Amino acid sequence: MKDHMDKIDIKSLMPQEVTALAREWGLPPYRGGQIFSRLAAGVQSFEEMTDLPRGARALLEERCFIAGAKEILRCPSAKDGTQKFLFELYDGARIESVLMNYEYGHSLCLSTQAGCRMGCVFCATGKSGLIRNLLPSEMLSQIHAAEKSTGVKIGRLVLMGMGEPLDNYDHVLRFLKLVSSPEGLHMGMRKISLSTCGLVPQLNKLAEENLQLTLSVSLHAPNDETRSRLMPVNRRWNLASLMDSCRRYTKKTGRRISFEYAVIDGQSDTPECAKQLAGLIRGMGAHINIIPLNPVKGSGFHAGKNAARFAAQLSAMGINATVRRTLGADVDAACGQLSAVNS
Ligand code: SAH
Ligand code: SF4
Repeated sequence: MKDHMDKIDIKSLMPQEVTALAREWGLPPYRGGQIFSRLAAGVQSFEEMTDLPRGARALLEERCFIAGAKEILRCPSAKDGTQKFLFELYDGARIESVLMNYEYGHSLCLSTQAGCRMGCVFCATGKSGLIRNLLPSEMLSQIHAAEKSTGVKIGRLVLMGMGEPLDNYDHVLRFLKLVSSPEGLHMGMRKISLSTCGLVPQLNKLAEENLQLTLSVSLHAPNDETRSRLMPVNRRWNLASLMDSCRRYTKKTGRRISFEYAVIDGQSDTPECAKQLAGLIRGMGAHINIIPLNPVKGSGFHAGKNAARFAAQLSAMGINATVRRTLGADVDAACGQLSAVNS
């Protein structure tokens, strides 16, 4: 993988690839393992690899770069201990990540793209369009930087920050393999959630990978008319094709899908909507996460005040639905509020 001034993005390489590189450079193969584990531990420069001979460090410096995430700002929430980070990448692109504390440990919501081109009308990230895809190394570096800054150990990941993960499919898949690698952070796939707005071909491809991660699908509307208005992706792949793909996903991986549904006042929280939604997912054993829409400046949408009532209506129809607790809203760190501007 080459990118930065044609140097090798070494932190995005798998252990066996780093070993192959070491061999190609005439270094003993075990040096590859050493380099990989130092990168996985979060070193920010080759100089820090003091267990390597000077010559090997000079080679790395000349031919490779470490794609880091430089902390520009850290905003702690006064209310719930959530912390939002603003990071700058090697080329000046800016992204955000959010560290959340739960009873069971620390979870990082990380970005997979700078910006997003999906254009959902209620989302702050979509406003800027896509700036660029993140490298696998830059997803890893968000974990390293957040851990270094706070001293906590991150035990769970949610790919729900800026960007549409399946629009950066190859890099996200490589990141998942890197982060779960036994020589690396060794994060279990069951500790990782990935959220998508519903890119059907990539979803079908992901099903074939048979990963044991938790898949979340952002539905937000129970019929094509409303969903196409809110989420342009629905004009390309409508609800019928999306639900078809979701059923195939569950069948292939044996994993239940979690659907995200942000209730928007007067638009998606009516009893008729609840009925349509129940009809869509009946029989899938799926779970619905009801999210009160978080305010985004200038979007003109208002949070559904009826989230609890809406969830109760679904439960009464035998659908497994819960209202998600919103974290970090006071520092614009909640779902859909990440924009990496005016932070
Ligand atoms: N692009 C992916 C993942 C990032 S967005 C996706 O769309 O699924 C993470 C979640 O935040 C998605 O469920 C998204 O629909 C939701 N979201 C976006 N804007 C929101 C808002 N203003 N209020 C609540 N949730 C929002
Ligand atoms: Fe992109 Fe997700 Fe925001 Fe839609 S909700 S614009 S897919 S980040």
